[in-house]
Amino acid sequence: MNPAIVLSDQPVIDFFNLEIEEAERTVGELIGKKFHGSSFASYVYKHYQAKTDEMFSIPADAREKIKDLVDISPLPILKKQISVDGTVKFLLQVQTPKGPEQIECVYLPDPERVTLCVSSQVGCKMACKFCLTAQLGFKHSLTAGDIVRQIWTVEQEPELRRITNIVFMGMGEPFDNFDEVKKATRILTHPKGFNKSARKITVSTVGIVEKINALTKEDPFKLAISLNGTTNEIRSKIMPINNRWKIEELMSACREYSKRTNKRVTFEYILMKDVSDSVEDAHRLGKLTADISCKINLIPYNESPFTEFKRPSDEQIAKFHSTMLQYDNAVFTRKNRGNDIFAACGMLKKVDAAAKPAS
Ligand code: SF4
Repeated sequence: MNPAIVLSDQPVIDFFNLEIEEAERTVGELIGKKFHGSSFASYVYKHYQAKTDEMFSIPADAREKIKDLVDISPLPILKKQISVDGTVKFLLQVQTPKGPEQIECVYLPDPERVTLCVSSQVGCKMACKFCLTAQLGFKHSLTAGDIVRQIWTVEQEPELRRITNIVFMGMGEPFDNFDEVKKATRILTHPKGFNKSARKITVSTVGIVEKINALTKEDPFKLAISLNGTTNEIRSKIMPINNRWKIEELMSACREYSKRTNKRVTFEYILMKDVSDSVEDAHRLGKLTADISCKINLIPYNESPFTEFKRPSDEQIAKFHSTMLQYDNAVFTRKNRGNDIFAACGMLKKVDAAAKPAS
């Protein structure tokens, strides 16, 4: 009997979409030995071994079965762009029920850490005015497996360093895909999974308050809020989500979250010329965050030909930063990374550096 004929009727297992115990059990049952299911998971998650043929502690016939029926393939890399500052942007293909789609993720090396910025959706519904991803509209929410596979794909690149930090700040609103994002963070941090530190995973949201209220201290990630405006008038103009949950409600949810979980919140604040960069804005931001355990990241806007927003002058950025120092919480001005390849914050839209706006 040709085993391939029998095996072809069995569905292929999407390994990275399974929680660790389920992954071990499913593979163990497939090859008839639970122990080898655990060995397989360990080869993948501990040793980053993608070649089934080289998993020598698993018997050859079981390896063959795994090769045919367990999918640990990386996502197809459609394009890889390298910035002058070492940032690497990947255009990856994911399968959806309606066919293949494209997402981006960004590798950001620093001397002391390596961060991967991952996507949680194809496109986005949130329509933030300053963001290029918003211009794509929404197409699809990724599975936990698609999210974990972004890390796996980049980890397979031989010239790149091991990823230490993961930020959910790529395409999509993570809390609009809450269950899959939480599942992905459990797989990433599980001691038998990639065993990444929960303190080094950050999930960033525009402020979906009902999901912030549902977070517990067991959720293995830190919370970041994309704030970007200090009054409801300004914020509603640039972030439609503010029409649903006003700043006061958002800040109150953050305050409660921080008390409940004993974790510090990160506030991301994009400095846009004549929109959010005044000294008055700085004072309002300082006051809004004063009684929340948090840190504040100031992000000078990454200009592109695709939006009308501008980066403030260096002098204005410095003035904003120094005003913020009058308040208690830690404040940092983030370095722009990967602008030349459209890999910087808010620039993920599947465009090349040489691309021109449509009109
Ligand atoms: S900033 Fe984030 S949430 Fe807003 S449109 Fe862009 S990807 Fe979506």
